[in-house]
Amino acid sequence: MSQELLRGLPSVDRLLHHTKSAPLLARFNRDYVTQQCRQVLDELRQAIRAGGAVDARELDDGAILDRLARRLAGQPAGGFQRVVNATGTVLHTNLGRAPLAEAAIDALVTAARYPTNLEYDLNEGERGRRESHVERLLVGLTGAEAATVVNNNAAAVLLALNTMASGREVIVSRGELIEIGGAFRIPEIMARSGAVLREVGTTNRTHPDDYAQAIGAATALLLKVHTSNYRIVGFSSEVPLPELVAIGRQHGLPVMEDLGSGALIDLGRYGVPKEPLVGERVALGADVVTFSGDKVLGGPQAGLLVGRKAWIDRIAKNPLHRAVRCDKLTLAALEATLALYQQSPDVVSEIPALRAFTRPLRELEAMAARLLPALERALGPGFSVALESSTSQIGSGALPTEEIPTWAVAVRHDRDSADAVAARFRAARPPIIGRINDDRFLLDLRTVFDPDDLIPRW
Ligand SMILES: *Cc1c(COP(=O)(O)O)cnc(C)c1O
Repeated sequence: MSQELLRGLPSVDRLLHHTKSAPLLARFNRDYVTQQCRQVLDELRQAIRAGGAVDARELDDGAILDRLARRLAGQPAGGFQRVVNATGTVLHTNLGRAPLAEAAIDALVTAARYPTNLEYDLNEGERGRRESHVERLLVGLTGAEAATVVNNNAAAVLLALNTMASGREVIVSRGELIEIGGAFRIPEIMARSGAVLREVGTTNRTHPDDYAQAIGAATALLLKVHTSNYRIVGFSSEVPLPELVAIGRQHGLPVMEDLGSGALIDLGRYGVPKEPLVGERVALGADVVTFSGDKVLGGPQAGLLVGRKAWIDRIAKNPLHRAVRCDKLTLAALEATLALYQQSPDVVSEIPALRAFTRPLRELEAMAARLLPALERALGPGFSVALESSTSQIGSGALPTEEIPTWAVAVRHDRDSADAVAARFRAARPPIIGRINDDRFLLDLRTVFDPDDLIPRW
């Protein structure tokens, strides 16, 4: 029986001459259709050999081509694609961190579609610098003397250390020798920058004297690192930036601070816990401050450096700057995002990350009221949904111990585990990513703006 089914399978060539192949060949190239068609036939062969109940009707040419069409329409499954972030972590590194503001998306699309004055000065009609527009905005927004921008904050730290301290010592507290996201580690970046790490203090306590005593002829820089993704609580102390700046001044040494997130505005009046403000750190005397474009700022991936003109100029002229520079799409999106901070009457509602941090609970409740019946209907028998109060996180290492109240939809199935329910939501198009709490699958509403996004389509 199975031999007969196997013999009955059509050839690729015959399938591609079938009338149903014409629309597929109009949309995809022949090599690709041929390769996908072979895979469909291989899968059917395997199913037949495995003795699976393969219906002869699934094996006629039309049915096989329907299967091929579905497969082609479904691509690129497993590829780079949109997902729905219902994790409650607003800046989820694995899900691409900050979603961009509409103005930033428009700028990015324009920069992608048309030639731009990327490195062209329209007043002079000659070559310009690609970073100049963004730098002007950053100076205005932070009060720093100068600014520059690179591909991400890790690159900003690498570049600044290389410029300011290559071949010399950088003093850092042992409590600030952090690792971010598994790959960014202060000691390793330091080594690659050519600077020599001089650790001082202890894991939980570092005092002004620890820095002062370590300063010697080889010292080039005092570095402070915002311990973004963890907190030392209890018997702990760190040296505040103004004191570190005072020590630096006394010894004629610059002070740099890696802020990680670095906020441009205080969201305190919305009840959102405070991240250090870049402008405040500059005002407190840091010579160079580095931070990310796609964390609390809510823009594209970028590494921003602001501070004293003498240092920023040297950083911008370092040949490594060219190796870690931003592309035009990033610069377009970043400039548009910064322009919102400068000009918008309501920047919090225009930048999605800021909006997500600050959405009032009643907005989430109203969304839940519309969502729950529709979700229940869409999921069908076996599933139950219930609204529960929970907490969301800022994410990307910002304020790891602080949580924002939220509402979440718990989705249960009467036979399947929470993991199995999560896997089903991940298999939706687009995939819906929730989180699991106490063996319940939760869809956190704080990070979702359109309730329709949470209705899975399989
Ligand atoms: C996130 C972070 C980095 C790395 O920034 P990227 O923009 O992800 O490269 C470096 N330092 C600190 C303190 C951070 O929080």
